[in-house]
Amino acid sequence: MILILKQGTSRDKVDELCAWLHSSYGVQTSPIFGEGTTIVGLVGDTSSIEIDAVEQNDVVERVMKVQEPYKRANRKFHPDNSIIDINGVKVGEKKIIVAAGPCSVESEDQIRLIAEQVQASGATLLRGGAFKPRTSPYAFQGLKAEGLMYMKRARQSTGLPVVSEITNPAQLELFMEFVDMIQVGTRNMQNFELLKELGRVKKPILLKRGFANTIDELLMSAEYIMSGGNQNVILCERGIRTFETSTRNTLDISAIPVLKSKTHLPVFVDPSHAGGIAWLVEPLAMAAVVAGADGLIIEVHNDPKHALSDGPQSLTPEGFTDLMGKLRPVAEAVGRTI
Ligand code: PEP
Ligand code: MN
Repeated sequence: MILILKQGTSRDKVDELCAWLHSSYGVQTSPIFGEGTTIVGLVGDTSSIEIDAVEQNDVVERVMKVQEPYKRANRKFHPDNSIIDINGVKVGEKKIIVAAGPCSVESEDQIRLIAEQVQASGATLLRGGAFKPRTSPYAFQGLKAEGLMYMKRARQSTGLPVVSEITNPAQLELFMEFVDMIQVGTRNMQNFELLKELGRVKKPILLKRGFANTIDELLMSAEYIMSGGNQNVILCERGIRTFETSTRNTLDISAIPVLKSKTHLPVFVDPSHAGGIAWLVEPLAMAAVVAGADGLIIEVHNDPKHALSDGPQSLTPEGFTDLMGKLRPVAEAVGRTI
């Protein structure tokens, strides 16, 4: 339920209204102070609320019911785009943010070198996996805590904030110390115990869509994190599983405008895991930019043929430079920068 307040309602009056709603109906309130209007979102069991009584309150203009089960992630609760600050890198503004780096951190020299190269080409975030959720237990599982430490050192030397994937709530303390944004991978999008833990911290979360999950399920997973108190969520479309076998996954381009209409949260796109082949990264990244993505996450490896994971979809640093050059005019054509 959303209350639209009368123009010019003072903050004291808003606080008074919120306290009354909480004590009378036990609901949580989240006021959003916009340019002209203030709205108050109500979360919790709103079934006992007498709409007439609320509408009679002096400062309430009108009451709107929200049908969707996601509230805090809902654009109706927060009409303006949310801007998420990753240690100084702002996501959700005009500039499209690019996170680039290897699928897996393989050594300290490797991650530092790639960080310098992608930064020189315009990336403003560094990606790198340390805890790898691999389909095969015999595949490289990541350097774990050591990998996170190398990420942190790469951040210290380049200034690029870093993003890495968490696979288990027990790793949270390490991630709080070593990374600037915590990634939840496709396989853990519905690991609700993990999502609840991530709701208790304030660090930005990059929540990737499960490869067999709907857009509304993605929003409900965001709601898990947000209802715990962490509003710093970025969503990521990374391709879904379909009957098509020519590509690793099928990039759901329509998810971008659909998400932008349903939620105020920024939307990233991962063209690397979507296509699964290096030459597909460019057309998919271009399509994502045109469709309204706020950011891209792209795999870049110094030696893709010998990468310990996801070599076939990784760009070389030179390929990444070329891609960024081609994305600039595309971003400009849709009123963005990159
Ligand atoms: C990754 O980003 O390295 C990754 C494993 O992504 P996803 O969870 O989308 O497969
Ligand atoms: Mn990967």
